[in-house]
Amino acid sequence: MKKFIKALLLPPAMMIASCTGNVQPQEEGFNYIDERFADIQMLRYNVDGFDSLTLKQKTLIYHLQEAALWGRDILFDQNGRYNLEIRRIMEKLYMEYDGDRTSEDFKAFEVYLKRLWFSSGIHHHYGSEKFIPEFSREWFVAQTACPEEIAEVIFNPEVMPKRVNQAQGEDLILTSACNYYQGVTQAEAEAFYARVKAEGDQLRPVMHGMNSTLVKDSDGTIYEERWTTKGKYGKSLSKVVENLKLAKAYAEDEKQQEVIGKLIEYYETGDLHTFDEYTIAWVENTAPMVDFVNGFTESYGDPLGMKASWESIVNFKDTEATKRTEKLSANAQWFEDNSPVAAEFKKENVKGITAKVIKAAILGGDLYPSTAIGINLPNSNWVRAEHGSKSVTIANLTHAYAESSNGNGMLDEFVYSQAEADLIRQYGGVTDDLHTDLHECLGHGSGKLLPGVDSEALKAYGSTIEEARADLFALYYLADPKLVELGLLPNNEAYKANYIGQMQNGLLTQIVRVKLGEEIEEAHMRNRALIAYWAYANGKGKAENGKDVIEMVKREGKTYICINDYAALRNLFGQLLAEIQRIKSTGDFDAARNLVETYGVKIDYNLHKEILDRYAALDIAPYKGFINPVYTATKDEAGNITGVSISYTEGYAEQMLRYSKDYSVEE
Ligand code: ZN
Repeated sequence: MKKFIKALLLPPAMMIASCTGNVQPQEEGFNYIDERFADIQMLRYNVDGFDSLTLKQKTLIYHLQEAALWGRDILFDQNGRYNLEIRRIMEKLYMEYDGDRTSEDFKAFEVYLKRLWFSSGIHHHYGSEKFIPEFSREWFVAQTACPEEIAEVIFNPEVMPKRVNQAQGEDLILTSACNYYQGVTQAEAEAFYARVKAEGDQLRPVMHGMNSTLVKDSDGTIYEERWTTKGKYGKSLSKVVENLKLAKAYAEDEKQQEVIGKLIEYYETGDLHTFDEYTIAWVENTAPMVDFVNGFTESYGDPLGMKASWESIVNFKDTEATKRTEKLSANAQWFEDNSPVAAEFKKENVKGITAKVIKAAILGGDLYPSTAIGINLPNSNWVRAEHGSKSVTIANLTHAYAESSNGNGMLDEFVYSQAEADLIRQYGGVTDDLHTDLHECLGHGSGKLLPGVDSEALKAYGSTIEEARADLFALYYLADPKLVELGLLPNNEAYKANYIGQMQNGLLTQIVRVKLGEEIEEAHMRNRALIAYWAYANGKGKAENGKDVIEMVKREGKTYICINDYAALRNLFGQLLAEIQRIKSTGDFDAARNLVETYGVKIDYNLHKEILDRYAALDIAPYKGFINPVYTATKDEAGNITGVSISYTEGYAEQMLRYSKDYSVEE
């Protein structure tokens, strides 16, 4: 399972409390933002900390990132059976075209190719609809002598219009362009797997169908063509395995060696029991600094949700962020004891959770270039239940998202004054990360239900109330001197940056994600609106100088928010936290409904229109993805790696063309 960052991104202090966090000393002049095309903004991520790893760890990463890059073509083919052929025709044209490269046709073609690379195919990575070429069919066919069949796939909007069709009532396999089934109907595929599942282990079922194409022969026989080193995708998988074998020699402990060994065995046999053994070893292998995902993993690309797309990420622990979460966890009882919540609702023995924070070193397959910011694996239900799961947040990616939003104009457009903008620029990052840590490590784990209270008592309002509880816990404690004492914040002013950001987001900017005229539905958004509008309403006339604690100010027709009394705002957060905890502890459904419906759902139409107009004027690309860094190994005469360096200068097209050249074998 994946946590994706939402399409629309706000500046650091206004970011949703997505579950991650890290304060990183920034490399001077690191360029987070790269080129933009169509609806996409390309970014870069900084693998800071890599240089501090040992040579053995760097060498392990080097081999694992090679293994990560070798699966790229598999995904292109999984996404559609013509994707690789189209990519090859187009890359050839792109490199060899000697006509006018500034012509409208060529420029439109270049954008199309960049989109194809981004989506690993001819369908949109997010919406899954086929791209409409803005260059002419005549021009393209004249340049490439591309076969009629391929031209139809590219240009005819009726052919393969969607990669994944989820429309009820249609044959989802026949109407989806993804390449997981050949010649079978949805009914045939469902019947096939119903039988396979019925015949298999019911208690600990393997994930049937996840690593094969379901094929119907000319004589009507239906069978699975396995994706193994000797089967389908055999050449690519053999290269993956070759690099995994090199990596295995540099594993950090015996368990990790076993993990890599099991993965190799599974790629060679396709045996799903071996896959389960591999995931169990993987989930239990928590000691090493370096970790990875490599394989057929998520099934979002199959309309039946069985076939898994190939992906890889190689990563290492973020030691600084982990120290931070460990500090919070170690003091969990202090935070519980000192919260404004009534004593009867507090936990006598609270255990903080240490969030695992990692840094991505390479992204591959279905995690590249568009990626997730959090990963929770494995997906097998019984493995999760019996052996647990690894849940991580990817700090350097989230950080890159936040940094890249810095220059997008959001901050200047929506912040009330220069003083506030300065606070956000200075402390937005550190306080956002800490907010997330407090929310995840302490907020969700604090408090208790009274005996006999049903944990589902708040029904549809439960998740909004739960998120509000965790957010309020974070907001209340961000302003506590304890955090400065623990060395987690630089001073007693820094928290203000988060207060401004959170209130501005909750009152104004988060509604850019909602269509005009509609209400807020998503639980995290409802929670943020609830907190902000409740504090706004309950702080009227309560500031030290008799003003409102939070003021909505109009200037030249634009709405801004201004916090007049930070200490009073903290008290309001404390009051609301106590009430929200009471609601949760006692299962007070009516109070939950009343709070959420009053403050968390409705949007003022005129304000909504104003915010949407201001946002549209900023022209921010809705989707983002990452260019990978390049790893270079230096070797001695015997071929042993003596050093691994990292660089960030490769361009997007350059990278894609290199991957196509160096990590591609005709199957
Ligand atoms: Zn949460």
